[in-house]
Amino acid sequence: MCSKILIDNEYLQLKKEVRELMGTVIISKSLSEYDFTKNSFYDSVKKVIYTGVGSTDEYYLRYWGITNNNLYEICKRINDLLFGITKFRKWSENIAFESVYVLIQGLFHSLIDVWEIIYEFSSRDGISKMIYQHVYWYFENSIFSKIFQFECSRCKKTVDFIDGSNMCYECS
Ligand SMILES: [Zn+2]
Repeated sequence: MCSKILIDNEYLQLKKEVRELMGTVIISKSLSEYDFTKNSFYDSVKKVIYTGVGSTDEYYLRYWGITNNNLYEICKRINDLLFGITKFRKWSENIAFESVYVLIQGLFHSLIDVWEIIYEFSSRDGISKMIYQHVYWYFENSIFSKIFQFECSRCKKTVDFIDGSNMCYECS
């Protein structure tokens, strides 16, 4: 009896995780809602990155870029922001702590030989901007292009594209 409940619970948990990983989708009812969701996310991400870089120790920043603690804080906040718009906990954690973390760390690793020169000619805002644009590019091309969908204002079907009147191809 007990073990059956356990198996059922495990099954439900597993099913939820698979659904999260395979089917994370954000459905917008209009192009303006879609723009608003994305722009609010990017505005917040920008602030998070500027704050993270701003609070990194001068010496560390000069030789190695941002600290792991700062990087972790940035990813933690991005995780919260992603969860805020998708409500998918596991998926948000994966994107924030696996992809974004590695992406930013990789950026500094790839620049290690020229980092001091870049540092000499950059401000903190310049470094923040560089990281932000890297993260923005990733979300635009690799994440949001896959998870955003729309609800047609007429037939209510979920579709990949809507026109300026928020209708699908068939209804417009
Ligand atoms: Zn339609």
